[in-house]
Amino acid sequence: MDDKSASFTRLSQTEFGTMPETGEKVMLYTLRNRNGMEMSVMNYGGIIVSVRVPDKSGRVEEVTLGYDSLEAYIRNNPYFGAIIGRYGNRISNGSFTLEGRKYTLPANDGTNQLHGGPKGFDKVYWNIAVADDSSSLKLTYHSPHGEQGYPGNLSAEVQYALTDDNEIRIDYKAATDKATVVNLTNHTYFNLTGDPSRNTILDHTLQISADSFLPVDQRLIPTGKLQPVSGTPFDFNTPAVIGQRIEDDNEQLKMGGGYDHCWVIRNHDGSLRKVATLTESRSGRKMDVLTTEPGIQFYSGNFLNASIVARQGPCGKRAALCLETQHFPDSPNKPSFPSVVLKPGETYTSTTVYKFSVVE
Ligand code: BGC
Repeated sequence: MDDKSASFTRLSQTEFGTMPETGEKVMLYTLRNRNGMEMSVMNYGGIIVSVRVPDKSGRVEEVTLGYDSLEAYIRNNPYFGAIIGRYGNRISNGSFTLEGRKYTLPANDGTNQLHGGPKGFDKVYWNIAVADDSSSLKLTYHSPHGEQGYPGNLSAEVQYALTDDNEIRIDYKAATDKATVVNLTNHTYFNLTGDPSRNTILDHTLQISADSFLPVDQRLIPTGKLQPVSGTPFDFNTPAVIGQRIEDDNEQLKMGGGYDHCWVIRNHDGSLRKVATLTESRSGRKMDVLTTEPGIQFYSGNFLNASIVARQGPCGKRAALCLETQHFPDSPNKPSFPSVVLKPGETYTSTTVYKFSVVE
């Protein structure tokens, strides 16, 4: 054991508040690694409240948007850090048919359902258990049959681990007692500069390994087609500065108010592979995204506005971005997309890693 590993506490816990209706105690768990990286998670929404990462000079700073109180999360949370379920992203007209039965879901995005509904997994109480070696947290939630319109009792499990390689590893699992649809993700907003109130993500550089993306209609519902990225502002195969093309005269950029689309991962085979890399030159921070999922939604924070006062201050449009690994939006209504159906006896699994380092 070297000095560094002897001199830090891997895990600490503090009270963060109380759930208004049930009185359940909400705790904030902070995981630390030997490089000074930290990650805090709470029971409400399974939310990643904070991620603090060294820059190229070793300075540890916050790289996500979050609030300092539970009340602020309950009052108005644009999904900061949250677990998203049962169905991440949109289901058109809040309905789908499964095994011959039509299900109607409460809408919360015009006529669509977004991120699992008005009370999705981002707003429920997750039980948290600490692993024996204090390097990971296991969150569990039981979603009853009929919750937010979905069939089947669903047991969901999300494990958050912080490794000594500066990785946040998220392992999702779920099982059901009746056929249902599942698409879990995490909605952490990143800004690698350390100061999202002063710097937007427009100067960040992004790379995404995808030959095509899913064009959307005015409701941000995929048309069902795959569109080649080649020759468009959606081509991030070669690393590109996000702000460089975001205002281009492009129908799909206009539709999304910027980037708010799902990229189709090249050669997806279900194994854990690197699919995207985000870098920021001043801080030198770099974040690789690895996933087992077939898609990644790059949302450039177009709907953020300065009335949202995060812990760093007002965070306006494009103050941060999300890279949400997932199955494709509206899959329950798109037979040509990879299936999101989970049946009794099957286990849903999904893994995503956000790996931090500095550019060489
Ligand atoms: C979606 C956006 C949505 C945002 C809400 C993102 O995952 O892609 O369209 O507005 O979540 O915070």
